[in-house]
Amino acid sequence: MISVEDARERILAVFSRLEFERKPLLDALGQVLAEDVVAPFDIPPLDNTAMDGYAVRAVDTTGATEAAPRQLRVIADLAAGYVLETPVGPGEAVRIMTGAPMPPGADAVVPFEETDELLRDVNQAAQKRESVRVFKGAAPGANIRFRAEDVKAQQRVIGAGRVVRASEVGVLASVGLTEIAVYRRPVVAILSTGDEITEPGQPLKPGRIYDANAHSIAAMVTKFGGIPKLLGIAKDTVEDLTAKIHEGLDADMLVTSAGVSRGDFDVVKDVLAREGAIDFWTVRMRPGKPLAFGVFNGPGGRKVPHLGLPGNPVSSMVSFELFGRPAIFTMLGRNDWERPFIRAILREEVVNPDPRRFYARCVVTTDAEGRYHADLTGPQGSGILTSMSAANGLAVIPEDQPSAKAGDEVDVMMLDWEHVP
Ligand code: AMP
Ligand code: MG
Repeated sequence: MISVEDARERILAVFSRLEFERKPLLDALGQVLAEDVVAPFDIPPLDNTAMDGYAVRAVDTTGATEAAPRQLRVIADLAAGYVLETPVGPGEAVRIMTGAPMPPGADAVVPFEETDELLRDVNQAAQKRESVRVFKGAAPGANIRFRAEDVKAQQRVIGAGRVVRASEVGVLASVGLTEIAVYRRPVVAILSTGDEITEPGQPLKPGRIYDANAHSIAAMVTKFGGIPKLLGIAKDTVEDLTAKIHEGLDADMLVTSAGVSRGDFDVVKDVLAREGAIDFWTVRMRPGKPLAFGVFNGPGGRKVPHLGLPGNPVSSMVSFELFGRPAIFTMLGRNDWERPFIRAILREEVVNPDPRRFYARCVVTTDAEGRYHADLTGPQGSGILTSMSAANGLAVIPEDQPSAKAGDEVDVMMLDWEHVP
């Protein structure tokens, strides 16, 4: 038996980052930037107001109070998107809207709330103002967003290697970009195997079951940033398996499920041995002990890594989480594939019957004091997929620990959490 870490290390050794592609900003969500992005101009490009209010010379407002307001002459109205060339002179003010560039001469903005603006009734508000009364002194620079305070021209706004999330899309759009260079998404071919497996939508004959694995794995591939290519279901024959596998050899990775446990090991093994090199491992984990990993010889000598997952639906998902996700992340140029772990208090005993690392499906909740608690999501059989569906984490009971008691603190790997890349 080998450890999860050993298996992962051997798998990751054959993967590397894929080439980059140039694509529209929004299509690159979750991909990794292949180049530094430099701001072509200052952000913001001009001093502008952070508030709706009046642009003034700060000295003209010194000492103003509600009892002793300063009255200023309003020389213009300025909306965002327009530039005023006329300077603001002594005793003057410009009515100004958030984001509008500061007019020359003004060095502060008095917000509407500190003037008589809000005392005017609806009818007056529609009329152009001749003057304004200021109730509070403004310091020089008050309520101004200064040119280049966010980013200076030619400064790097986002470095190569960063994952494109919503905030990166926003930053890149704000420097005017419509396309970016990112490492390509891996195409992952997915094949279910087994005479009993039936495509959902088809009638179910006695003794048969629907294909859960291809679909849960395809969903994980998409969620992790890859592109699934569904190859369907192969019968447990050398001919069918060989033919279906060949359809997947244009992919960046091939994932099969089932046929790696003792019972029907042989068909898959025969095919794999003929078409490439393959190892069958027993990994010290539960669920999901059997695992196959190898490399197919694709067309033109192309090497296509192959991950052979166990057939039981929970084993196949947990194995793909532990081994498939790091492979996809590596091809995407990401190294943050490790999920965040938290410490949670077990609410019931978990028995670990043999010396393997037990990944127990659980749901983590928070109590009033902010402590995490973990409840198992029911029976832990590796065929019970609904217990995976109810879980948000996997409680980890180490290899050498026969049980964890109610009240014990354990590590929980949070399935839907991500590290900040
Ligand atoms: P095997 O690895 O072929 O021995 O399969 C182990 C168990 O997983 C058997 O009960 C299979 O019926 C089941 N199984 C295999 N493939 C799938 C699949 N694609 N969807 C759901 N269950 C499966
Ligand atoms: Mg089978």
